[in-house]
Amino acid sequence: MADAVETSAPIEPRAASDVKGWEAEADVVIVGYGCAGASAAIAARESGVDVLIVERTGAGGGASSMAGGEIYLGGGTPVQKACGFDDTPQAMFDFLMAATGPGPNEAKLSVYCDKSVEHFEWLVECGVVFKPTFYAAPCWEPPTDDGLVYTGGENAWPFSEIAPPAPRGHIPQMQNKRLMEKSGGWMLMKHLSATAEGAGASVMTDARVAKLVVDAGGRVVGTIARRFGEEIAIRARRGVILASGGFAANPDMVSRHAPRIAGQMVLGTDGDDGTSIRLGQGLGAAVAHLEASEAALPSVPSLVYPSLLVNEHGQRFINEDTYCGRIGQAAVFHQQAKCSLVLDEEIFESVPEADRWGARPTWVCATVEELEAEMGLPSGALQATVELYNRHAADGHDPVFHKRPEYLRPLKSPYGGVQLTGLPYAVFTLGGLVTTVNGEVVGPGGLPIQGLFAAGRATSGIPSWGYASGTSLGDGTFFGRRAGWAAAAVPG
Ligand SMILES: Cc1cc2nc3c(=O)[nH]c(=O)nc-3n(C[C@H](O)[C@H](O)[C@H](O)COP(=O)(O)OP(=O)(O)OC[C@H]3O[C@@H](n4cnc5c(N)ncnc54)[C@H](O)[C@@H]3O)c2cc1C
Repeated sequence: MADAVETSAPIEPRAASDVKGWEAEADVVIVGYGCAGASAAIAARESGVDVLIVERTGAGGGASSMAGGEIYLGGGTPVQKACGFDDTPQAMFDFLMAATGPGPNEAKLSVYCDKSVEHFEWLVECGVVFKPTFYAAPCWEPPTDDGLVYTGGENAWPFSEIAPPAPRGHIPQMQNKRLMEKSGGWMLMKHLSATAEGAGASVMTDARVAKLVVDAGGRVVGTIARRFGEEIAIRARRGVILASGGFAANPDMVSRHAPRIAGQMVLGTDGDDGTSIRLGQGLGAAVAHLEASEAALPSVPSLVYPSLLVNEHGQRFINEDTYCGRIGQAAVFHQQAKCSLVLDEEIFESVPEADRWGARPTWVCATVEELEAEMGLPSGALQATVELYNRHAADGHDPVFHKRPEYLRPLKSPYGGVQLTGLPYAVFTLGGLVTTVNGEVVGPGGLPIQGLFAAGRATSGIPSWGYASGTSLGDGTFFGRRAGWAAAAVPG
C-alpha cells in the first residue's frame, strides 16, 4: 500500500529558488515525443519560438509509433469525397457527442469537428499520404494501404440513427505493415518527427522528466529531468507542455483510478506511467474520467459481426456489428469481461484462417442445448437467446439490438462457442488532465495554471469515455498543435 501511494500520488513541484542553475533552456519545453509532443513542437516552431522536446527513451515515438495509425478526421475530407462519402462537421459532431460519452467534451468536440478538414490538410503538409481508397471489410485496422475505414460503429445502431454515417478513420499510407508493431502510426510519427526537427525543434533523448519547477507566483518555469543518472534543470521561458501519455502502465494508478482494467494487456509503452498527470496534480490540476479506458475485445471483427456475443448468463448485451472497441468497453465495464462468441460452422469457415488471429471454437456441439451445457450456462438461457435471434434473423430483423441485416442469419448446426473470458483485453487509459481547447491545464478554481499546457493521452480529450479508433491520434495531434500555439504565445 505504501508503494501505491508513492507511485500514484501527485508529484510536488520544485521551487525555482531551489534550482542552482539551468543546464538547458528553450521558450517551450515539451515533455514526451509522441504524436502530441511532435505536433506541439511543429506548432510552436510555426510561431517562431525555440522548442526543446525532452524524451525519456532513446528515440521517441511512444505509443504513437506502435499504433495502427487510424486518425479520426471528417466533415468532408478529400479522402472521404474521393471514396464517395458525404460528411459534414455537424454529422461528425453529432456522432462523437453520442459515441464518446457519457460526459462528452462538447467544447473540444465542437472545435475538433469544425477544423477537421483543416487538420487533415495540415497532416498532408507534414508529408503524411492518405491513399484515397476505402477498406470495407470489418477489421481492427486494414492490412492493406487503403486510407479510409469505419472505426467507430458510425454505420451501426444506435449511431446510424443519430447521425448520417461516414467512415472517418484516415490511415497514413504504408506498405508491408506489421500490425501492432510497425504500421500507420509509425508512418505518422516518421513524418511528424521529420517535420518537427526539420523546422528546428531540438530533441533531448534519454531524459526522464521527474518534476516541474514553479516560480514564487506559481507559474511553471521549467522541469527537472533525470539523464544518465544525473539531475538536470531545464528552463522554459514561455511554457511547459506535458505530453508523456496515459497511465495504463502504472499499476498503482490503475488500481486506484481504473480498477476495471487492472491486469489487462497494456496497449502502449512503459512511458504510460501517468507522470504528466501526477505532475499536473502536484499543482492542483483538475482531472477527468480517470476510470475510462479503451478496451479491445480479444477477437476479430469479421468473426464477431455475424456471431452472437453472450455474457455469463447466456444473454446478448450489444449489437455485435458495431466497433469492437465499443464492444470491448461494454464487456469490460458492464459484464466483468466475461463473455463468449456463439457461432456456427458456416460463420467460422467464412473467415480465412489467416484472418482469425488464432481463434478456434472452444466447444462444438450439434444442438444449442448441448452447447449451453458445455459452456456452463444456465439451463435454457442460451436456447432462449438463440431461438429469439434466429426467429427474427430469418426475417432480417434484430428487434433487441438492431444488428444490420447483412450480418443477420439464423445460426444452424453444428454450433460453436469461442471462450473469450480470461483472454486479455488490450487497454489504454482515456482520462487525464483537464485542459481548455487551447491546451491550458486547468487548475484550482477552474483557472489555467500559468505556464502549463498538456495534450494527448495525458489529458481527457475527444474520447472522454466512449472510444472510436482514431480519436487518440486525432486528439493528440489536433490539441497538441493548439497547445504548441498557446505556449508559444505566452510572453517570454
Ligand atoms: C498497438 C497500438 C495501436 C493503436 N492504434 C491506434 C489507432 O489506430 N488510432 C488511434 O487513435 N490510437 C491508437 N492507439 C493509441 C495511441 O497510439 C495513443 O493513445 C497515442 O499515440 C498517445 O499519444 P501521446 O502523444 O499522448 O503519447 P505517446 O505516443 O505514448 O508519447 C509519449 C512519449 O512520452 C515519453 N515519456 C513518458 N514519460 C516521460 C517522462 N517522464 N519524461 C520524458 N518523456 C516521457 C514516452 O517515452 C513517449 O515517447 C494505439 C496504441 C497502440 C499501442
